[in-house]
Amino acid sequence: MSDLFIGGAWSPAATGRSFPTLNPADGTVITTCAEAGPADVDRAVGAAREAADAWAAHPEHLRARLLWRVADLIEANAEELAELESRDSGQLLGVAREVSVPGTAEHFRYFAGWCTKIQGAVLPVAFPDTLHYTRREPVGVCALITPWNFPLMIAAWKLAPALACGNTVIIKPAEQTPLSTVRLVELMSEAGFPPGVVNLLTGGPGTGRALAAHPGVDKISFTGSTEVGRSLVSAAAGGLKRLTLELGGKAPSIIAADADLDAAVAGNLTGALFHSGQVCAAYARFYVDRERADEFTEKMAAGAAALRIGPGDDPASRLGPLVSEEHLRSVDAHVRGAVYEGADLVGGGRRVDRPGFFYEPAVFAGVTDDMAIAREEVFGPVIPVLAYDDPDELVARANALEYGLAASIWTRDLSTAHRLAARIRAGAIFINMIHVPDAATTWGGYKASGWGREMGPYAIDAYTEVKGVWTHLGPGSR
Ligand code: ADP
Repeated sequence: MSDLFIGGAWSPAATGRSFPTLNPADGTVITTCAEAGPADVDRAVGAAREAADAWAAHPEHLRARLLWRVADLIEANAEELAELESRDSGQLLGVAREVSVPGTAEHFRYFAGWCTKIQGAVLPVAFPDTLHYTRREPVGVCALITPWNFPLMIAAWKLAPALACGNTVIIKPAEQTPLSTVRLVELMSEAGFPPGVVNLLTGGPGTGRALAAHPGVDKISFTGSTEVGRSLVSAAAGGLKRLTLELGGKAPSIIAADADLDAAVAGNLTGALFHSGQVCAAYARFYVDRERADEFTEKMAAGAAALRIGPGDDPASRLGPLVSEEHLRSVDAHVRGAVYEGADLVGGGRRVDRPGFFYEPAVFAGVTDDMAIAREEVFGPVIPVLAYDDPDELVARANALEYGLAASIWTRDLSTAHRLAARIRAGAIFINMIHVPDAATTWGGYKASGWGREMGPYAIDAYTEVKGVWTHLGPGSR
C-alpha cells in the first residue's frame, strides 16, 4: 500500500480508501494506493500554497542543485525505477531502461540548468525618463495530471520545469500506473525539497477532477485524452486558471514515391508500434504514394507479424501488453469497426490467447479517409494504410482532422520534405525518422491536440507569469 505525500509527510487518504494497480502482463494486482478525496486535495493544495512564497524566493542556484540531485538519485535507482515502470505499465524493460529512466533524469538536468537562466528583459519603452524591465515569476500552485503511457517521463516533463520556475506542485499520476511516480516523489523528498513544494495525490478521475476544480490551484498542466482536456477547460474557467494541455493525436505519416522504402518500413513500424502504439505522437495513418502502397503494406504486415509479443520483462519481447482490459477492448472495437466499414485486414488484429492484455498489431489496406480507423485516435497497435495519387491533395488530407500533434514525412527529396513540413499543422514534424521527444525542444499540439508547449524554453513560458516594472526616472511624479 502506498500513501499520499502532502506537506513533506506520507499519510493514507482521509477516507482510508485505496485502489489496486495491476500488472498488465498477467492482470494480477501489484499493490494498492491511497485514493485521495476532496479533503486530501484540500490539504495538498493548502500545503503547496503555504510553501509557495518561500520556494519562489529560494535562491535559483539552490533550486538547480535540488533538481540535479533528483537526476543523480534517479540514476542511482535506475534499475528499480525501470522495473517498476515496466511492471506497472507493461512497458518493455529495455524501453524503460534505455528511454524512460534516462529521459526522466535528463529532463531534471536540463531544467536544473534553466533555474539560473530564467530572466527578464530591459525593454525600450517610448516614455521618456522611464526604466522598464520585465520579471519572470512563478505562476504559483501547479496541479500536474499525468497519463499511463509514459508515467515517469511525463511526470518529469511537468515537475522539472514547474519547480525550476519556482512553482510548488501537486502531482497526480494515472490510476493505472502510479508506482513509478510514487517512487520518484520518494526520491525527490530524499533530494531535500522543502515540505509542501512537492506533493503527491494518487487516485482516479475523481481525484483529478477535485484537484483541477480547487480554487487554490493557479495552473493545471495535463497530458491525456482530448475529452478530459476539454473538461479541464471548463474546470479552469471560473478562476481563469492557467492551462497547458497535451492531448490526443492521430499523426499522419506520408511515404512519398521516392522514399527509401525499407528505411520507411523500419521507421514506421517503430513509429506506429513503439510501446504498442500507446503514444500520443504515434504514427497512426499512413498516406503512401499509390505506386508504393502495396509494397509498403506487405512489408509493414510482415514486419509487424515478426515482432515477438510478450511480457515487458522478457528480453525477447518486442511488443508488450496494452495497459488494461478496458483499453484492449477499446482497441479491438476499433479494429472490428474498421473491418465492418470495409477496410482490408491484412494481418493481426486479435487478442493473444494468454493471460494479460496482449494484442496482435493490426495492419489494414484499402482504408479511406471517411473510415473511423483513419480519423479516430486508437492509441494502440493499428496501422491503417491509405493510398494517395496527388501530392497536392496530401496536405488537405493530413490536416483534415481535429488533431495536430505530430506528423512524419518519408522522402529523399528535400524540397518535398520541407514544403510539407511547413504546411502540415502539427506541433512536431519528423522527416525520415521516428518520433522522439527531447528536453531541449518543443512538445505539444495544434488544434484539439492541446494548448501551449512543454519542454525547452517553451516550458519556461508555461510555468511563469511575466510582469512589467515601470520606474519614472525624471524629476517630480508622472
Ligand atoms: P486515458 O483516456 O488515456 O486513460 P485520461 O485523459 O482519461 O486518459 O486520463 C489522464 C489523466 O487524467 C489520469 O491521471 C486520470 O486519472 C486523469 N483524469 C481523468 N478524468 C479526469 C477529469 N475529469 N479531471 C481531471 N483529471 C482527470
